[in-house]
Amino acid sequence: MREHGGGRDTEASSRLYESACRVIPGGVNSPVRAFGGVGGTPRFIAEAHGARVIDADGVEYVDYVGSWGVMLLGHDHPVVREAIADALRHGTSFGAPTAAEVALAERIVSLVPSIDQVRLVNSGTEATMSAIRLARGVTGAPGVVKFRGGYHGHGDAFLVEAGSGAATLGVPSSPGVTPGAAADTLIAEFNDLESVTACFDAAGHGVACVIVEPVAGNMGCVPPRSGFLEGLRSICDDRGALLVFDEVMTGFRVALGGAQERYGVTPDLTTLGKIVGGGLPVGAYGGRSDLMRHVSPDGPVYQAGTLSGNPLATAAGLATLGILEADEELYARVERLAERLGSGLESAAGSTGVDACWNGVGSMGSLFLTGGPVVDWATAVACDRDRFARFFHGMLNRGVYLAPSPFEAWFVSAAHTEDDIDLTIEAAEAVMRSLT
Ligand SMILES: *Cc1c(COP(=O)(O)O)cnc(C)c1O
Repeated sequence: MREHGGGRDTEASSRLYESACRVIPGGVNSPVRAFGGVGGTPRFIAEAHGARVIDADGVEYVDYVGSWGVMLLGHDHPVVREAIADALRHGTSFGAPTAAEVALAERIVSLVPSIDQVRLVNSGTEATMSAIRLARGVTGAPGVVKFRGGYHGHGDAFLVEAGSGAATLGVPSSPGVTPGAAADTLIAEFNDLESVTACFDAAGHGVACVIVEPVAGNMGCVPPRSGFLEGLRSICDDRGALLVFDEVMTGFRVALGGAQERYGVTPDLTTLGKIVGGGLPVGAYGGRSDLMRHVSPDGPVYQAGTLSGNPLATAAGLATLGILEADEELYARVERLAERLGSGLESAAGSTGVDACWNGVGSMGSLFLTGGPVVDWATAVACDRDRFARFFHGMLNRGVYLAPSPFEAWFVSAAHTEDDIDLTIEAAEAVMRSLT
């Protein structure tokens, strides 16, 4: 692996970034790509194969972003590529039902324990917005309980942060979100069941659902405490609310059947995205038939999409799930790699005297630059962000592409090798040495 001096190898990316900033807000089509949390020039990616991405300057990196968790099989998998190419020959969009949509729905229903019926959409954001509309439509209650530091896409109801106190009614965290849209969102603390019951007690007009990332992935990776998901299940049952697992990140990632399979807790509704589209835009929401029957045109809860079930996206998703289902060793193998990475990073931190802890579940994990343990948002934000920025750039200069924020998960793919992992650990040890 080459060593890259800061700036020497970023000429093309810098030029593109400058042009991009003139015509795209912040130069990017999704905010975290802009390197705002770490500074410097975002790398413009030219191509990606297997576990590697190559930027516009021709510099190659071992990739742990994996399109934010999408690429469990690695980039440019030949079977997925062929499936897309096959579909392409038949036309790219019909706005009418197709056989492939039925096949993808059947596969999702057979793999995800809680899903009897599923509706395909185009992104994780669409899936979560639709799922809470359905929960509100079914229960007639307006309240939605979410967790501080949990991310469910950019729907208005989710762009909310609490004031002081565990069960404070939501106030918007973005201009453009009206107080009305935020008022029915209640904020609880991850891994804290008492804060959830406090939200129920504080909700004036009833709670439609609790929505949770069963393994938090958007405050960095934070696993559920033993009993936490079970506790959510019984609180929802006692109070007549629905439990929504947002498995956009964990679905097909922490197990073939998602976190609900791994932890044995069954939600009422599940949202999917990322891996389910095999690198093309697909989201989905599903659950028990008696709930899903409320969705139009069967029922009155409206939800639609011109490109939903798009033939190219459906083909990529089907091919991906097919490989995941057929390769019985895949999850265990990728998980072992992630464990090797996590324990290697922790011992590198130990030997260099850097405060750090690794949280990992399956093939996702995060290195927090704090002594830990990290169990919720408050303990996650205790990490040293300036130190992370230096760590991030040190790794980038050594050819390792991490998410440009301390509050994101790292993703290991089936295309990573033990050598990739060991090179990453070596790079991390060298960078950590320079941090202290
Ligand atoms: C990525 C993500 C979303 C949003 O999905 P998009 O496809 O980016 O709209 C929602 N929930 C979780 C848990 C996610 O990780």
